[in-house]
Amino acid sequence: MEDEADTPQAECIFCQIVAGTTQADVLFDGGDTLFFRDISPKAAVHIVGIPKKHLASLDAVVADDQAMLGKLLHDCADVATTAGLVEGGYRVLTNVGSDAGQEVNHLHFHILGGEPLGPLRC
Ligand code: AMP
Ligand code: ZN
Repeated sequence: MEDEADTPQAECIFCQIVAGTTQADVLFDGGDTLFFRDISPKAAVHIVGIPKKHLASLDAVVADDQAMLGKLLHDCADVATTAGLVEGGYRVLTNVGSDAGQEVNHLHFHILGGEPLGPLRC
């Protein structure tokens, strides 16, 4: 039986973007990963990178996901490079759970840059 954590969730906005039923400004399709512009940017450049597989958060990652997770982070670096963020620098982060303010329960990394970002806690 499939684990619910791995199954596309009909109500998950990022699964809908993967399925193509919700539109997004997609910048890169890495096969098992997808990168698109955040709909409500918190920096001059704000890109979201996800695994196409539904995982609720970093907390849901299991040993079998290690290769995918490594590729997702590697893709983050490639996408940041393509977006022109390397010279100025950029930030990659993921929120897990309510204290971190996670709003979308599908694992994602935020890539933020294009301007000075200030301290991490702001
Ligand atoms: P988090 O608070 O870490 O869960 O971040 C979720 C992010 O997803 C927020 O920055 C939202 O602006 C972004 N977001 C939500 N819906 C969409 C969408 N349809 N397309 C692109 N980004 C989205
Ligand atoms: Zn999902």
